Amino acid sequence: MKVRLLSRYLSSLNDESLSIAVLFLSNRIFPFGSKFVVNAGFGTIMQALSEISFLDKDQIQQSYMQYGDMGALSEYAVSKKHTASLIEQQPLTLPIIHDRFKGIADSIGSDSSKAKKSILKGLFLDCSPLEAKYLTKVINGEMRIGLTEGLVEVAVSMAFNVELKKIREAMLVSGDISQVAFLARSRLLHTAIIKPLQPLSYMLADVMFTAEEIINYFQKPLICEYKYDGIRAQMHKSGQQVKLFSRNMTNITNVFPELVQAAIDSKLSSSMENIDFILDGEIMGLRNGKPLHFQELQKRLRRKNVTGQILTDVPIVYIVFDITYINQEQTIRNPLRQRKEILSSILFREPIINAKQEVVNTAQKIIAMFEKSRDDGYEGLVLKDPESRYHPGKRGRYWIKLKQELDTIDAVIVIAEYGHGKRAGVLSDYTFAVRDENDNNQLKIIGKAYSGLTDKEISTITEKLKSIMIKDDGYKIAVKSELILEISFDSIQKSDRHDSGFALRFPRIKNIRSDKNITDIDTLQKVRHIYENQSYLSDK
Ligand code: AMP
Repeated sequence: MKVRLLSRYLSSLNDESLSIAVLFLSNRIFPFGSKFVVNAGFGTIMQALSEISFLDKDQIQQSYMQYGDMGALSEYAVSKKHTASLIEQQPLTLPIIHDRFKGIADSIGSDSSKAKKSILKGLFLDCSPLEAKYLTKVINGEMRIGLTEGLVEVAVSMAFNVELKKIREAMLVSGDISQVAFLARSRLLHTAIIKPLQPLSYMLADVMFTAEEIINYFQKPLICEYKYDGIRAQMHKSGQQVKLFSRNMTNITNVFPELVQAAIDSKLSSSMENIDFILDGEIMGLRNGKPLHFQELQKRLRRKNVTGQILTDVPIVYIVFDITYINQEQTIRNPLRQRKEILSSILFREPIINAKQEVVNTAQKIIAMFEKSRDDGYEGLVLKDPESRYHPGKRGRYWIKLKQELDTIDAVIVIAEYGHGKRAGVLSDYTFAVRDENDNNQLKIIGKAYSGLTDKEISTITEKLKSIMIKDDGYKIAVKSELILEISFDSIQKSDRHDSGFALRFPRIKNIRSDKNITDIDTLQKVRHIYENQSYLSDK
């Protein structure tokens, strides 16, 4: 019913509004890869609401407690607005709202929160109370009208009478629902091909726990590579333009200037011709041939300006392990062994390097490589089926990771509490959740952790958490599901304490994963898989 209503609505829109509507409905404001980010936090919205209404800050805070929802609060505050917009009130349309969001995203620098607040106030003044409710929900990425991007895809398919499968395939290579909706309407979905400078979804690895399990499953020679502990990155080159995207499709080109020049200088080794490409690989800190700890790399990721000093303090390499596009041709349908041949025909300039690989066909060989990887300071191995295609966005049994420790879990913080003693005044205890694939990706809590971070990291996290607060209970706050932690643990137990039915034992925060976002967090199914397989590890 909901989807039918939505499909009718989508088919009534013009192209521009259609592109914006599908983004808003998918809990996004701008497509992946966009340079725009609307960073308007709880405080800015509250202040804008207080300034346009008869309500002072305390009343706003109180009403918030009463409604427990920023959208409902906005509806209430706008119903009490007292200031009329000075310029003549124009009816709000999707393109106008989107333009003003761009204005908010463009406000950077020291005065940015003032500028953001002023645009927000203007928007609220032009809104009816009900519009204000949904405007705030769009800003907060919390539409909560029971629509995930998946359902929006169904609605697009109904609206324009195209097969859902075709929409989903186009989404995996384009990654941009606004473009795909437009192509669906124009009957041009087949043109949604991989294009350099526009990120596509990443192929993902599955996990197995022993070399024997891997050999028994595949029963054929496999390509074996080290598992590099850095950040996944796509490198796009088209002419003289180079872009790097992280796992959550953020443009991280500015953080790694040395890779831009190296990409431009990379050529085909046979002819020394320039080439266009999209590569897949891992950026890793490396000093004197030794991999650096992930946290060192993070020092770089946190920088807005990457200066000469940090370039020498945290030297990096980009280790390429796949290629999805070369000179006008997409290569995702070629088997991995062919993609590897293409990679070996390119002369990369350092610090871009091809991943080392070996072909293995016995458990003994895998174990020997595994031990070598550990001796060389790496995490373990990734084993790959040489006949497999590149499957964007899929976690299939084509790439298998083998790690020694129990796997870590990427989970999102949903509640944060103030600490005690030395940690009074900072948010140092985090309750985190994974997503349940069998229950519409609902978040399910799997534990609470308070160790593993430095004081400096805790204070940075505290600031961030406050800016994404959605409910304030005094000693603890509920936050938007945005901040991802990588958690290590001793084992997994069944537990009634959390709604997931599981709890991590002795959880420790291994890393703050600012390179990942909510769609990258692990699933309850993975938690269950580890729970069911942990006997393997205790036998070792
Ligand atoms: P995980 O993040 O634990 O699910 O492991 C999968 C990740 O390992 C990928 O997303 C990559 O970032 C990383 N990785 C490191 N080395 C490789 C490799 N040789 N091939 C594929 N992925 C790799």
